[in-house]
Amino acid sequence: MSDLAYSDYRGIAADLRFPERAFIDGSPCASTGGLFFETTNPATGAVLAALPLCGAEDVDRAVSSARRSFRDGAWSRAAPEKRKEVLLRLAELIRRNGRQLAVMESLESGKPITDCLKEITVEVPDIFQWYAELIDKSYGRVAATGEDACALVLREPIGVVAMVLPWNFPLLMASWKLAPALASGCSVIVKPAEETSLTTLYLAQLAVEAGIPAGVFNVLTGPGETTGRLIGQHGDIDAVSFTGSTEVGRLFLQYAASSNLKTIGLEMGGKSPFVVLDDAELTSELIDNAIMAAFWNGGQNCSANMRQIVARARQEEFVEKVVARAKAIRIGDPLDPQTEMGPLISLRHKRRVGAYIETGVNEGARRVLSPENALSKGDDCYLGPTVFADLKPDMTIAREEIFGPVLGVLPADSIDRMLAIANDTDYGLHATVYTRDIDRALYFARRLACGTVAINGFTEGDIKTPFGGYRKSGSLARDKGVEAMAQYQQIKSVWINVSRPEGLS
Ligand code: NAD
Repeated sequence: MSDLAYSDYRGIAADLRFPERAFIDGSPCASTGGLFFETTNPATGAVLAALPLCGAEDVDRAVSSARRSFRDGAWSRAAPEKRKEVLLRLAELIRRNGRQLAVMESLESGKPITDCLKEITVEVPDIFQWYAELIDKSYGRVAATGEDACALVLREPIGVVAMVLPWNFPLLMASWKLAPALASGCSVIVKPAEETSLTTLYLAQLAVEAGIPAGVFNVLTGPGETTGRLIGQHGDIDAVSFTGSTEVGRLFLQYAASSNLKTIGLEMGGKSPFVVLDDAELTSELIDNAIMAAFWNGGQNCSANMRQIVARARQEEFVEKVVARAKAIRIGDPLDPQTEMGPLISLRHKRRVGAYIETGVNEGARRVLSPENALSKGDDCYLGPTVFADLKPDMTIAREEIFGPVLGVLPADSIDRMLAIANDTDYGLHATVYTRDIDRALYFARRLACGTVAINGFTEGDIKTPFGGYRKSGSLARDKGVEAMAQYQQIKSVWINVSRPEGLS
């Protein structure tokens, strides 16, 4: 993916100017209270920028601006072709600024530059383009009636929408929500995770340049407990689309219940299975996918397939191959195009993951690869991969979301036992199944209780396939696909009584 060298990316990083203001009513602005918080580079600990800690007055200002812009109709009532043209221009601006955005995201999140480039120079602009092209191809419906009536079923933008986002895929998660919301005609307020605000602020500038009217796209920076809570409790926000932990998702339902009953769309945590049936060949491609499923983005992935359920007879061969491949993962500076795994997002998070690893050992899981063996660098945010074998379904590390580079192999004796273990979780976001038998593949696909099933490859699908979770992984809301539009639209029925025209016999 990378066409430049390590030194080039360091050069781009040295020239970057980081945004240092929130974004309200079409312009960068400080917080009214004058408070700040720092955003840092997890690879080095260096402070990248001091950002406004947005409080109640800032949230009110952003909501008023969004409401005003929604009412004046410059965006919400614009012709579909107009919104399409602007969003296509935004897609193009993201492509043109892609390298800068990718380096900025790599610096702030610790994600390898090659992943940032793929997400930001390809996927993010493609998402805006896809929804832009959908705008003038979306139709309402006409209900069946007699000739004495005509009944229209219309879709309208829901109004002012807030998006509260996680740090693991900052600009990608923002785009999954922003593109369909803006395509629908909503005015939006984005609250990025406090760890990763920079690229969303950069995007707000590009949105204005593309022609999105002032007030339609606002960004509030700040911690969840203050800025996020104030958004959740605000009485004039029509909907919140949230991606993050199940714990905080639950809070948003409470905020809505205690304020204006705003609509809440939830995309939350996971504990996804990777199932290898006994007929699957343990090829290098399968092993690469097993590694990717558990360790991509340092395992900081909602759909991470940490629970790898393998036919018992194949466990030792599988473990041996997975450990050999995991040892070869190149850990290093995220700006180096050779790096496959960067640091975790913070020292606090690394300690949390470390505590889970200890729990796994204490509960009797067999550790076959320790981070110490794999280039871990001591008291910083880096943590190499850990692999456990002989995991039991009731162990803590087989049940709770770890969100770090930990892979656990659970051996099982029969297909039904494998399916039962796969479904034995509070979550239901994603699953991967490897088998050469189409009947077995479909048997699993239909019975796995989760939003996405990948067969013979680890994938979350593409922009055309909706993404979301069952059970504690999500509400009925979906990101991506045509289905994502539903989070940002109201349905209105218009019933027209029709009289018989005069003068007809
Ligand atoms: P988090 O829940 O801690 O934070 C998510 C967002 O909520 C952040 O913007 C944060 O500032 C805000 N927030 C935190 N506390 C809040 C509060 N009390 N009130 C209001 N807002 C608050 O999650 P995270 O640590 O940023 O991300 C990791 C989690 O996100 C994992 O559980 C992961 O599985 C999940 N995730 C899910 C998906 C998905 O599509 N299902 C995608 C990515 C991440």
